Amino acid sequence: MAENQNEGSKFLNSVHRYFDNAAQYSSLSPGILAQIKVCNSVYKVSFPIEVDGKIEVVEGIRVQHSHHKLPSKGGIRFSMQVDEDEVKALATLMTFKCAVVDVPFGGAKGGVKINPRTSSVKTLEKVTRRYAAELIKKNLIGPGMDVPAPDYGTGSREMAWIADTYQALKYGETNALGCVTGKPVGQGGIRGRAEATGLGVYFGIREALADAELLQGKGLEGGTMEGKRIIVQGLGNVGYHAAWFCQKDGALITGIAEREGGIYNPDGIDVEEAFKHRNQTGSILNFKNCKNFENTFDLLEMECDILLPAALENQIHIGNAANIKAKIVAEGANGPVTQEAEEILLKNNIVILPDLYLNAGGVTVSYFEWLKNLSNVRFGRMGKRAEEASYKRLVNAIESTSGKNMTAQEKAILTKGSDEVNLVRSGLEDTMINAYHEIRDTMRQKNIPDMRTAAFLTAIEKIGVSYEALGIFP
Ligand code: NAD
Repeated sequence: MAENQNEGSKFLNSVHRYFDNAAQYSSLSPGILAQIKVCNSVYKVSFPIEVDGKIEVVEGIRVQHSHHKLPSKGGIRFSMQVDEDEVKALATLMTFKCAVVDVPFGGAKGGVKINPRTSSVKTLEKVTRRYAAELIKKNLIGPGMDVPAPDYGTGSREMAWIADTYQALKYGETNALGCVTGKPVGQGGIRGRAEATGLGVYFGIREALADAELLQGKGLEGGTMEGKRIIVQGLGNVGYHAAWFCQKDGALITGIAEREGGIYNPDGIDVEEAFKHRNQTGSILNFKNCKNFENTFDLLEMECDILLPAALENQIHIGNAANIKAKIVAEGANGPVTQEAEEILLKNNIVILPDLYLNAGGVTVSYFEWLKNLSNVRFGRMGKRAEEASYKRLVNAIESTSGKNMTAQEKAILTKGSDEVNLVRSGLEDTMINAYHEIRDTMRQKNIPDMRTAAFLTAIEKIGVSYEALGIFP
């Protein structure tokens, strides 16, 4: 797995530099800090599969960065570029991401060297099931052990195959569906997972906009989302949902950058319509009332309030960072800003809402899915009708004391009980708000100027408490 060694090593080094930078502010002992930084286990496996009558050897890896809490948690990516250091870097980030949003898991990540675009569905199923079986053999997957999820090149279909393989080999295990998250709803998945990361991004941006102290001197009038100009890069799962929720709350999506080019309209673009247009025509270009940008990267440099990179890593780099005019860079993607670019952005007084916090909505709702699987009951199933009955009694009492009757529509709104998707969204909102204020408190207490360092430090301190509580490190 040496093909992408340099990029993977650079990524791991930069994650370690972020860690070291934050660790300087910590009072934890050097021994505990060293334990928090290091990857706890790496498992590499090679197995044969048959493709078109020939045997091919497929390489897979699973890295569990931290066992300070179990299970460990992190996606599985299918890509020919899968590389050990890259997977280690991503597993490391998962540990800190979980800690930032109080998801009680260690971090992990997995990868299989296969091209999901050129492989047949039959081959992908064989590879997924065999990779799962290899992890099961070594006790490296399970609801209390390590719980994978989708990542680049995998989705709910692959998670369903993993769950099915696990159930077949661990026949009768009550919590079996909790061995993996991101499953289809019909197979133990949870409502609200698909939009969770984008919705979390929206909640994070909303908190930042309401934070007058953070925005002081940044040339941006905070308060609410109303009228804020947002350019989004990548209209995929994260970018589409984040832009949709921001728009619904009053923001103007003035630019959308995709692989084939970008579109721009200072008066705002209807995200849903633009998404449909891209699906129908195969390109974001030539959308009504918009200016085309043949070079998609030029769009990132346009005047706006918030730049929302939600496509890939390393999109804002030393070559374009100085031209970014946004007041806030909101990292929907993982690692969209390189370390060199970050220095330039911060020097230019731009606020960075770091990936570690901002895109943690996905893992938060994965945690809810795991809880649902352990309890074997849909959220809201027990309480919804009882809640509704209680609201109805309240409405009846208001009507009889006021002497005024509400309309059927008003009653329906006031007496609606919470179902799964409401509860998931409410839990996500609470999580993103709490995590935001913890990071901001850390910034104030330790006099840290940027949110990324503070997010790392918040996570390091929480993980340190777990080790200190064990009393094994003097
Ligand atoms: P996705 O594949 O659904 O969407 C990515 C989009 O980016 C696609 O529409 C693609 O065409 C576009 N894109 C690719 N290259 C581009 C370029 N050069 N310029 C503009 N657009 C480009 O992926 P996703 O799930 O939305 O993930 C996006 C990022 O968010 C990744 O970094 C991922 O690791 C991160 N992330 C995703 C989740 C999640 O729950 N999906 C959670 C946390 C982090």
